[in-house]
Amino acid sequence: MILLSGGTGTPKLIQGLRKVIPDDEITVIVNTAEDIMVSGSLVSPDVDTILYLFSDSLDTSKWWGIRNDTFHTNNALKKMGHREKLMMGDADRAVSIFRTGSMNNGASLTEATCLLSGALGIKAKILPMCNEKVNTIIKTPDGVMHFQDFWVGARGTPDVLDVGISGIREASPTWEVMDALEREENVIIGPSNPITSIGPILTLKGMKEILKTRKVIAVSPIIGDAPVSGPAGKLMSARGYPVSSKGVARFYGDILDVMVIDDKDPMNASDFDIRIVKFDTLMTSVEKSESLAKNILTLFSGI
Ligand code: GDP
Repeated sequence: MILLSGGTGTPKLIQGLRKVIPDDEITVIVNTAEDIMVSGSLVSPDVDTILYLFSDSLDTSKWWGIRNDTFHTNNALKKMGHREKLMMGDADRAVSIFRTGSMNNGASLTEATCLLSGALGIKAKILPMCNEKVNTIIKTPDGVMHFQDFWVGARGTPDVLDVGISGIREASPTWEVMDALEREENVIIGPSNPITSIGPILTLKGMKEILKTRKVIAVSPIIGDAPVSGPAGKLMSARGYPVSSKGVARFYGDILDVMVIDDKDPMNASDFDIRIVKFDTLMTSVEKSESLAKNILTLFSGI
């Protein structure tokens, strides 16, 4: 099973999927357009969340960082007047230091992630979407800013005029990503932010073409007229898409075989051009994530 993932909604689904299929049968293609250098180390927020999820150390109260991590370095820097761009725990920082060290020694982001997976005892395959540096850029009335400056630094408050991904045209999906997609037929696009998490993956050269040949099921991160969490609504509006599961379906276009929307969503199958299935998609517990994962798996045999 392959999943396309960001760092919150899809990891919640993977948490349940792990109860149903073994980790070594799961491949996750992860967004890297929110990666950023923090105090000299490369942080790959969505990759890290997936690493921590599969090494059973993720802080699932926040969906980032390591459970019971300490913040000695971050606090020591703060005392010296240096405020870091992201709150980084000490063990979390160790992962970024490991990654940066590997890459300074010549490893690609994919190789560094593979080394980290090995060091953390992970059996799933975790694949950054590309090795090139790509950045999600938010255009606001006051100028452009990196996604992390918008979402963490400015708490998502500025008006958004547009969203772009710098470097994406020069980037390609990795050999490992394409190889995984050639070997595996079933793909889940989890309920992640369509614009900032799934959009960058789909924009990579050849990605939509190969997905059209696979069985693809997407889960909407929007219920009714609002996302469950995060800035997806604001960013979809800025890109000209309605904030609804229909807007999500339109954004993904003809790569989808089935779209799963929430059973509380007022939209109906007749509102869409593609096959719609309604399930309870609100993953407020591991049990609910597991039950959604089981329901999604039953759909593949009907495609
Ligand atoms: P990010 O990288 O932290 O932005 O995380 P993602 O892109 O992976 O996930 C963010 C999206 O997940 C948001 O648009 C939320 O609406 C969606 N989301 C979070 N929890 C749930 C849930 O329980 N159900 C559904 N359907 N969507 C969810």
